[in-house]
Amino acid sequence: MTETINLHIAIIGGGPGGYAAAFLAADLGMKVTLIDPELNPGGVCLYRGCIPSKALLHVAKLLDETRHAKNWGIDYPDPKIDLPRLRSWKESVVKKLTGGLGQLSKQRKVEYIQGRAAFDKSNTLRISRTNGTEDSLTFDRIVIATGSRPAIVPSLKLETPRMMDSTSALDLSEVPGTLLVVGGGYIGLELGTVYAALGSKVSVVEMLSGLLPGADRDLVLPLHKRMEKIFDSILLNTTVAAVREESNGIRITFEGPEVKERDKLFDKVLVSVGRKPNSEIPGLDKTQVKLGERGFIHVNKQLQTDDPTIYAIGDVVGEPMLAHKASHEGRTAVEAIAGHKVAFEPNAIPAVVFTDPEIAWCGLTETQAQKENREIKVAKFPWGASGRAMTIDRPEGMTKLIVDPQTERVLGVGIVGAGAGELIAEGVLAIEMGALAKDIALTIHPHPTLSETVMESAEVFFGTSTHVYRPKRP
Ligand SMILES: Cc1cc2nc3c(=O)[nH]c(=O)nc-3n(C[C@H](O)[C@H](O)[C@H](O)COP(=O)(O)OP(=O)(O)OC[C@H]3O[C@@H](n4cnc5c(N)ncnc54)[C@H](O)[C@@H]3O)c2cc1C
Repeated sequence: MTETINLHIAIIGGGPGGYAAAFLAADLGMKVTLIDPELNPGGVCLYRGCIPSKALLHVAKLLDETRHAKNWGIDYPDPKIDLPRLRSWKESVVKKLTGGLGQLSKQRKVEYIQGRAAFDKSNTLRISRTNGTEDSLTFDRIVIATGSRPAIVPSLKLETPRMMDSTSALDLSEVPGTLLVVGGGYIGLELGTVYAALGSKVSVVEMLSGLLPGADRDLVLPLHKRMEKIFDSILLNTTVAAVREESNGIRITFEGPEVKERDKLFDKVLVSVGRKPNSEIPGLDKTQVKLGERGFIHVNKQLQTDDPTIYAIGDVVGEPMLAHKASHEGRTAVEAIAGHKVAFEPNAIPAVVFTDPEIAWCGLTETQAQKENREIKVAKFPWGASGRAMTIDRPEGMTKLIVDPQTERVLGVGIVGAGAGELIAEGVLAIEMGALAKDIALTIHPHPTLSETVMESAEVFFGTSTHVYRPKRP
C-alpha cells in the first residue's frame, strides 16, 4: 500500500499508542511530529510498564524454577542475587527497545521532539523542548496519546522512599525484607511476584473479596492458591485505614471483618490501586475536547474527540488501559485521518496477567455474561489431562471456551496456566473470525503443546474430548 496523504500531523505522547500512530502516519506519507519528554519513544509501556516488569518477571520465573527443580532431581544451591547487575540488565532491555524505536522514527523521517506539548488552540501546540527552547507550531490534525499515571489515594500519601508506586518499584533500589502491596490488581500482583522471588516477604491487601476483581473466579482460583504459597499473606475484604512512618518502617493499620492483626510494620509499601488518565493537558480548555467519566477524553469510534481537529487514543481515552489497545486505536485514528472508512470496534481485546500461573482472557467473560443475563455454555479443559502440562509439571491450569448455545459461536476464551498469555492469541483470532466451537475442534493442533488445551476445550463442548471421560447419561 503506497499512498501519500498531504497532512501535517502532531502526536502528543510517544507510548505504544503514540508511536504506532506516528509510524503509520509516516508510512501513509504524512508529515509527522511526535512529542514526548523521553529521549526516545516508548512511553510508560517501555520505560516503566510492560517491558521492565516482564524482564523482571522472567527472572522471577527462572528463580522459581530453579527452586522447584528439586522435585525433578536437580538440586541448585540458593541463588545469589546481584541487584545492580539485574537492574542494569533490565535497563539494557529498555534501552535497546527504546533506542530501536528512535531508529525507526528516524528511518521514517518522523520529527521527534523531546519535550512537552500544551494547546494554544485546536490546531496549535506550544512545545517546550527539554533543551529549554519553546515553539508554537500549527498542524492539520493532532492526536493526543498522553497515557496515564498511577492513581494516588490521599490517605496513602507519604513522602518517603519506603512508599512506592509501580514506577519506583520497578527501579528495584533494594529488596525489602517485608513488602505490603496495596491493591490486588494485575500490576500489584506482578510486582509482588517479582519481589517475592527476589526474597521479600510479600503481603497483599485488597478491599474487595477476591484478587483481580473483574476476572472470572475459576481463572483466579489456581493463581490464588499459588500466591498463598509464595506470599506471606493475602488480606481480602480489607482496607488500609492509616499509614505512618516509623524509624524502621511503615506502620499500617488494617480495617475489615477478617483482620486478625490490626497494626503491622512493613519495610516498604507498594501502592497499586489503579491508574488515572493524563487528560489535564495545559490549554486543553482552549479546544472543544470534552472529558467523560473518570477524566477520560471523550472520543467516537474513529477516535475523534468533540473537536474535529483533535483525535485521542490509548489510556487517556479509557479502559482497558493496555498497550495493544493503545496501538490499535492509534492506527485506527491515523487511518480515519487519512480518510479510510474505519472504526475501532474489536470483538476481543486480550487481557493478560503475567503472574505465575498466568491468566488470560478475551471476548465475553462468564462474569460479564451473568451480569447481562446472557445464555452461554462453558466448556472447560483441565490441564491435569494435558500431556504437555505434565511434562512441565504445571497441571494446575485450565482452558475454557464460552460459547453461544444456539449458534455454537465462540464468544469468549479464558485460560489460566503457564504461558496463558501466549495461548490467548488463538482465542482472539477465533472470536474475531467468528469461529464456531467445531472450527477449533477440527483444527489440528501440534502435540504435545499447551495449545491442544484450546482444541480439547472445544471437544469438551461436544462431550467428545479425547482426554476427558464424560460418563454417558442413563
Ligand atoms: C507496571 C506496569 C505494567 C504494565 N504491563 C502491561 C502489560 O503487560 N501489557 C499491557 O498491554 N499493558 C501493560 N501496562 C499498561 C501499558 O503500559 C499502558 O496501557 C500503555 O503504556 C498505554 O499506552 P499509551 O500510548 O496510551 O500511553 P503511555 O505509554 O502512558 O505514554 C504516554 C506518553 O505521553 C507522554 N506525555 C504525557 N503528557 C505529555 C505532554 N503534555 N506532552 C508530551 N508528552 C506527554 C508521557 O510522558 C508518556 O511518555 C502496564 C503498566 C504498568 C504501569
